[in-house]
Amino acid sequence: MTAKILINGYGSIGKRVADAVACQKDMEVIGVTKTKPDFEAKMALEKGYKLYAAVPERAHLFEEAGLEISGTIDDVIQDADLVVDGAPKKIGKQNLENLYKKNNVKAIIQGGEKANDAEDSFNSLWSYDRCYGKDAIRLVSCNTTGLCRSLYAIDSITDVLKARVVLIRRAVDPNDSKKGPVNAIIPSTDVPSHHGPDVESVIKKFKGKIISSAVIVPTTLMHMHSLMVETTGATKDDIVDAIAKTPRIFTVKASEGLDSTAALIEMSRDMGRLRYDLNEIPVWEESINVIDNEIFMMQAVHQESDVIPENVDCIRAMLQMEEDNIKSIEMTNKAMGLLK
Ligand code: NAD
Repeated sequence: MTAKILINGYGSIGKRVADAVACQKDMEVIGVTKTKPDFEAKMALEKGYKLYAAVPERAHLFEEAGLEISGTIDDVIQDADLVVDGAPKKIGKQNLENLYKKNNVKAIIQGGEKANDAEDSFNSLWSYDRCYGKDAIRLVSCNTTGLCRSLYAIDSITDVLKARVVLIRRAVDPNDSKKGPVNAIIPSTDVPSHHGPDVESVIKKFKGKIISSAVIVPTTLMHMHSLMVETTGATKDDIVDAIAKTPRIFTVKASEGLDSTAALIEMSRDMGRLRYDLNEIPVWEESINVIDNEIFMMQAVHQESDVIPENVDCIRAMLQMEEDNIKSIEMTNKAMGLLK
């Protein structure tokens, strides 16, 4: 079976999911939608994607701009086995209710939506089985995805008693010229910030164990997490080994010059990654320390790309294309050229 996938909302996440789906052997992109005929719409056509108007009343804008669309979303949605929604926060939920459910088509909404907006919350390592065959799933945010990977590695070697996480969040994505802050650090005054409970929506057995706080800083490249995890015991070597065995997370050494998010992105550029995406989570090896059974470590998250391979695995789970999450992860990684 070649799964027919429609991408509704071809922005930062949507265009990356389109490219990730297009390179898989068992799925194809039957179309992408745009709300307006901008450069991204032009480039989607140049890449060979069929372009549809996301909002039918705006179809004339594409014709007026000389961009050939294949119709509107209403013309293609019935042909899709599954829609990956890439629309902005809150619009994903509206699309789920007003569009996908009405057309009886399976859909993935993204991490800007709330946990109870969909049937369940997806991470390839933790909730693949729970989402198997489901109709409406939320692909959790970049931060939640990053934490799910590192906590999976830790959980594979020791019992987690409590995790405290400080998230240092990028202000905006690099393409955003409208928001800030430019010269401030903005604290989230909610305790816990929404991130801890969001991780718990995926890792149910950690309910009540993850306490997070967050600040936003003037940078665009990546988020950073400082983790403090109380366990029943693990050594630094155990943790480095567990990270090596866990998919889509790896250790880097500050001593080799990878001493900042800027250096990590430079590494990704040197690797020739499209859009300098770093889909895997880098953990600074020197930052891994164990004091009285409490693990301290720091990791970075490339916010625009870590969730992309998870979207591909989520498609396989929802369409019951592969029962084994590890096999799906391997297929996705191989096709996308990920490190592991
Ligand atoms: P974006 O603004 O880059 O892209 C959204 C796209 O959807 C735009 O092309 C916009 O024109 C289009 N759109 C607007 N209204 C639409 C509608 N009614 N129907 C279809 N398309 C519509 O946003 P993004 O950063 O890609 O975020 C999309 C979702 O992914 C959000 O839920 C966000 O929280 C989540 N997410 C974003 C990031 C990130 O760092 N950018 C990371 C993880 C998850």
